[in-house]
Amino acid sequence: MSNKRVMRWIGAGKSIATDPSVKVLCPVCQKVYLKVRDIPNENNPSEVERQMLCDKCGAFNVLRLTR
Ligand SMILES: [Zn+2]
Repeated sequence: MSNKRVMRWIGAGKSIATDPSVKVLCPVCQKVYLKVRDIPNENNPSEVERQMLCDKCGAFNVLRLTR
């Protein structure tokens, strides 16, 4: 994984952590916007797992957020 790609993931994560409806280009292929979905943590109700997924290249990353 290149440094630039890592930096793009960090930028995407910051934006999406603030606003899950924000349109962020996939940090890997930069062709389509990332899909975002929130998965509640059953073991810890105050925490939510925010998944970022690219439909085009399959790139995937996860944020852990505290509500
Ligand atoms: Zn992609």
